Amino acid sequence: MDVELEQLEGIMATCERISIAVKPDGVQRGLVGDTIEHFEQKGFCLVGMKFIQASEDLLKEHYIDLKDSSFFTGLVKYMHSGPVVAMVWEGLNVVKTSRVVLGETNPAGFKPETICGDFCIQVGRNIIHGSDSVESAEKEIGSWFYPGELVDYKSCAQNWIYE
Ligand code: UDP
Ligand code: MG
Repeated sequence: MDVELEQLEGIMATCERISIAVKPDGVQRGLVGDTIEHFEQKGFCLVGMKFIQASEDLLKEHYIDLKDSSFFTGLVKYMHSGPVVAMVWEGLNVVKTSRVVLGETNPAGFKPETICGDFCIQVGRNIIHGSDSVESAEKEIGSWFYPGELVDYKSCAQNWIYE
């Protein structure tokens, strides 16, 4: 096999996936396009996307680790208050990189030139969700998407994004 092709296939084999969701406030504020643009222009590959109003059961499961927090009930209500755009993006180190692109959870840490830094003021209305680890991404993708909703394809830009 061609050395470059072999190298590229090695990179693609280690590619991770992340679950990203534009939250109800992001949808209502017309920030779906901007969010997608960030990920597309970075070079990540979209493998799944749907527009849904998530059920309270799904959201309670999604935020199970926060069930004892004072904001849990409000968080589920907010996330259930309107439609969300749930997506799966794939790429090298996509989880770690996306968390940087998104910005920090704490509003005091909303850095400029991150999605939260540019578009949000309060933590409870932070327009976007991104999995915080490869393990939680796998779990979230499994609960938000059926396997058949994820598309397995090769982006024609792949060879221009990875060396
Ligand atoms: N959240 C909140 N108040 C807080 C902390 C978190 O409303 O004090 C919400 C916020 O929408 C955040 C979500 O709960 O995105 C999940 O919190 P987590 O700590 O997992 O942050 P994330 O992983 O989303 O950055
Ligand atoms: Mg989290």
